[in-house]
Amino acid sequence: MTILVTGGLGFIGSHTAIELIESGHEVIILDNLINSKLEVLDKLFEITGKRPIFYQIDVTQQAALEEVFQSHRFDGAIHFAGLKAVGESVAKPLEYYYNNLVSTMVLSKLCLKYGVNKFVFSSSATVYGDQISPMREDMPLQRTTNPYGETKAMSERILMDTASVNPDFSVCLLRYFNPVGAHDSGLIGEDPNGIPNNLMPFVTKVAKKELDTLSVFGDDYDTIDGSGVRDYIHVVDLARGHLAAIEKMGPGVSIYNLGTGRGTSVLELVEAFTRVNNVVVPYEVVARRDGDIATSYADPTKAEEELGWSAQKDIEDMVGDAWRFEQQNK
Ligand code: NAD
Ligand code: UDP
Repeated sequence: MTILVTGGLGFIGSHTAIELIESGHEVIILDNLINSKLEVLDKLFEITGKRPIFYQIDVTQQAALEEVFQSHRFDGAIHFAGLKAVGESVAKPLEYYYNNLVSTMVLSKLCLKYGVNKFVFSSSATVYGDQISPMREDMPLQRTTNPYGETKAMSERILMDTASVNPDFSVCLLRYFNPVGAHDSGLIGEDPNGIPNNLMPFVTKVAKKELDTLSVFGDDYDTIDGSGVRDYIHVVDLARGHLAAIEKMGPGVSIYNLGTGRGTSVLELVEAFTRVNNVVVPYEVVARRDGDIATSYADPTKAEEELGWSAQKDIEDMVGDAWRFEQQNK
């Protein structure tokens, strides 16, 4: 298949491009480089031996995007392009609503116009809100606590409504839990601009002594050790989930959790990082972070039953690969 990958130079998009290329698919990448670097394209070539066609385009710009649709015939689109920093979305709601919603609408409009009938969307476990884990796909969408989360829930609704009146248009909503880790070549991984918001990139910066201390946000949750519990998933497993989705998605709308089904606390993750990598991660416990919930992990059985996909890598792989990337690339 020929697959359009928006946001394909970003963290998850680049790993997915590799899996698609290595499975024989043709990949065309669009990215405006707002949160990624052009050199990732060279890394993709180094890893796969193929250089995907790349357009530096903002997916909200319909005219520019339409030129790409006129030049290629796509079998499907995977839509990763989006802004993703929760805290920044609170400070800049309009930027987040505009970028994340308009990109989804413009891309789906052109897919309909040009008969591109498979649309895979990057959603998030945040749409489950604070319901009791394990999260299942048939749980109701909840109001999220920030504009970023709202853009995911709204995009899901926009795509569901669009699919319901366009029977040939298939939509697959993939709800990611906590993507971490890096490609085992150590060539690509998570490389956020500035001080990271997420746990794993913060831990790697502390381990590398670029930041002094990890703040553990709360140790009084009702969890195994009081710190927050999440379902960390290796980015290569996540990428393979997209490959399974685009190859096997059925008609209409399908929704899948992409998680391991296992919860890991902040303190457990720090312990695993220290043990596997033999490196110290100084931390201090501070107050809870606003908007955080105690526990979030997936019920991943639907993806396993319907897509034949399940996560294979464990927390040791995740902390090891994250550290290898950090050491090799910065
Ligand atoms: P990322 O920032 O590394 O990748 C997103 C890419 O999209 C970047 O390369 C960025 O330059 C590009 N981009 C953003 N807006 C664009 C636009 N208007 N036009 C063209 N390119 C644009 O993020 P990621 O971690 O790879 O996330 C990919 C998707 O998955 C995002 O939609 C994100 O919201 C979603 N998601 C991520 C996580 C996570 O924890 N990483 C969890 C759940 C969902
Ligand atoms: N966390 C933390 N310190 C940090 C960043 C995150 O203790 O510097 C905790 C956070 O409270 C949550 C978990 O790590 O329990 C995962 O947070 P992250 O921001 O990575 O992902 P989220 O699940 O919030 O999207």
